[in-house]
Amino acid sequence: MTDFTAPCEEKIYDDDAAIAAALEHTSIPALMMSMIHMSGDPALMDADIKPGMAFMGEIQGFLSAEQQSEIRQQALNIICAYRDRGCTLPEAPNKSIIHKMMQFIVGDEVAEEYVDMMIEDTSLYGKDERAFTWDKPVSDSDKKEFKVLVIGAGQSGILAGIRLNEAGINYTIVEKNQGIGGTWWENNYPGARVDVANHFYSYSFEPNHDWPEHYSRQPQLAAYFDRCADKYKVKQHIQFETEVISCDYLTEQAQWSVVIRKADGTESTERYHAVISAAGQLNRQKYPDIEGMDSFKGQAFHSSRWDWNLNLKGKRIAVIGTGASAFQLVPEIAKSAGHVTVYQRSPNWMFPNDRYHQSVADGKIWALKHLPYYGRWYRFLHFWMTADKTHALLFSDPNWEHKDRAISEANDFTRIMFTDYLKEQCGNDTALLEKVLPTYPPMGKRTLQDNGSWLGALKRDNVELITHSVSAINATGVTDETGAAIDVDVIVYATGFYASRFLWPMKITGKNGEDLHQQWQDDPKTNLGITTPNFPNFFCVYGPGNNLGHGGSLIFYSECQIRYILECFKTLVENKLKSIECRPEASEAYYQKFTEAADQTVWAHKGMDNWYKNKNGKVVTTSPWRLIDFWRWTKQPELSQFYLD
Ligand code: NAP
Repeated sequence: MTDFTAPCEEKIYDDDAAIAAALEHTSIPALMMSMIHMSGDPALMDADIKPGMAFMGEIQGFLSAEQQSEIRQQALNIICAYRDRGCTLPEAPNKSIIHKMMQFIVGDEVAEEYVDMMIEDTSLYGKDERAFTWDKPVSDSDKKEFKVLVIGAGQSGILAGIRLNEAGINYTIVEKNQGIGGTWWENNYPGARVDVANHFYSYSFEPNHDWPEHYSRQPQLAAYFDRCADKYKVKQHIQFETEVISCDYLTEQAQWSVVIRKADGTESTERYHAVISAAGQLNRQKYPDIEGMDSFKGQAFHSSRWDWNLNLKGKRIAVIGTGASAFQLVPEIAKSAGHVTVYQRSPNWMFPNDRYHQSVADGKIWALKHLPYYGRWYRFLHFWMTADKTHALLFSDPNWEHKDRAISEANDFTRIMFTDYLKEQCGNDTALLEKVLPTYPPMGKRTLQDNGSWLGALKRDNVELITHSVSAINATGVTDETGAAIDVDVIVYATGFYASRFLWPMKITGKNGEDLHQQWQDDPKTNLGITTPNFPNFFCVYGPGNNLGHGGSLIFYSECQIRYILECFKTLVENKLKSIECRPEASEAYYQKFTEAADQTVWAHKGMDNWYKNKNGKVVTTSPWRLIDFWRWTKQPELSQFYLD
């Protein structure tokens, strides 16, 4: 079982001065929530000092230094009293107080529909409400007889293992890499870090108070998932360096026959009652198609295949692409490379975030470990600012007249704000501004977190930004469309992934010999991105349409999907059924609903090019939903949407 039962980890033994020092580094709105838990007195919310509307990553509620200091003083008294009585808590606030607290901490109206979701996501009543439980008595042998294959040991595969362990169901995870983490295992290029705040980007039931940075680096992310796999006894179920080649559904037996290949090339065929693909969208490298690529005699690799034996010192490096990966690696390699030439096809909109590379202060770590529910509210604060709060910005306003620059008034406001941020950084360098200022609406591609490091790197003497497309590569270097050629030692292809080739290159054959890729073509029809007609007992996590483009944490999304899938397993095992299969009318209805919403988003806006769309320009990888909607839809499978056998 997951073990989230305590509001915080450690009792307080520190003296007043140490506590006061730690409080200097806390988020005041989150601290105020903890004060209410410790004192049992919600009257704090009726006093004069109230956080302003949470926005743009502001974690201090726009409170003045004096206001913050006054709250810290009040907090010190409450914390010392809490410490002196042995860290016992009064009765937990009831739901209506929790709702008031939610609105208070974010300085905004929060619809009532979020209350249960927030209580669940923060385990606010001291238990992991997403933990799996059986509704009916089920014998151990029935649980064990139901064998599940999980494809992939990234964050969602590990999560599947944690929940399957809770259920006592038999399972195997196959992972093509040598270690745990999926994208956090593979993308270990210099500068790789998460760009969703870590205190939110972590399992709801496994907060990590020791994140060294607010947006930690790849090794810390990989280590977190590895630690979780150990702690929850998932690791022993993983077969590393093993790939699924094909899955064939045997209708009569209601089982999947799966061909698995080990690193040494040996293949075996195994039988499973159900398959969960947790294979992810971003792990099949997309190299550009540039004339002469094969003739290059230096070193060339994809950003997710970084060669750590390469000594960058003095090297001339060409980086092709300026997406999220290049955005992180260029500033890092520029520090030691001889020269870096960056080839940009389109610039990025970026979002100012001072904390992006900052360490988490010791005082904050102390608060996370010692102040009841502080970390939980800190998580909610990030959820609110970075997820559904930004959702409305995605949608096109049919009455907005300036579609050439933005899709709505709010989107235009964002454009102006982001433009000012770029102007401020470029200063008098108008040539640079012209190169880095996007001409498409904000959020049309993934918006990047920034603390000035990108433009800082581009302004370095040893970095050059080229905005002409690459026309050829030869033995010694790169030529752009103007004919300008440079010699380089290394080429880094930061050119992204085949995100919309779901489950590729596996061959998945369902009922009546239906081939999944034939059925899906370039435009998958699924229910909730999880189940597909003709493919009984086959489930996807982070499948079609389940990337997040407006914000939020993919871990949150995975927790929703895994709960839904485990509920499907529960239906099968408790009722001694053989199969559960999505009805075509359910996937058709979901497809229509999805298409209607996705077509209105900025990603689908005329002229937009991004990896959220298929080659016909239809959004297929990314979700147009608010997180709250997806959470509600996935709480329980609607059994009328399935054939049950
Ligand atoms: P990406 O966003 O798809 O970026 C690929 C880049 O390569 C784009 O700039 C693209 O230009 C350019 N490109 C592609 N083909 C090209 C060609 N033939 N010539 C010149 N340029 C070319 O890939 P990514 O940067 O690897 O990021 C993929 C996703 O991974 C991100 O959107 C994000 O979801 C995730 N990611 C997350 C993090 C994080 O959380 N910290 C970090 C890295 C990646 P165009 O834009 O013009 O197509």
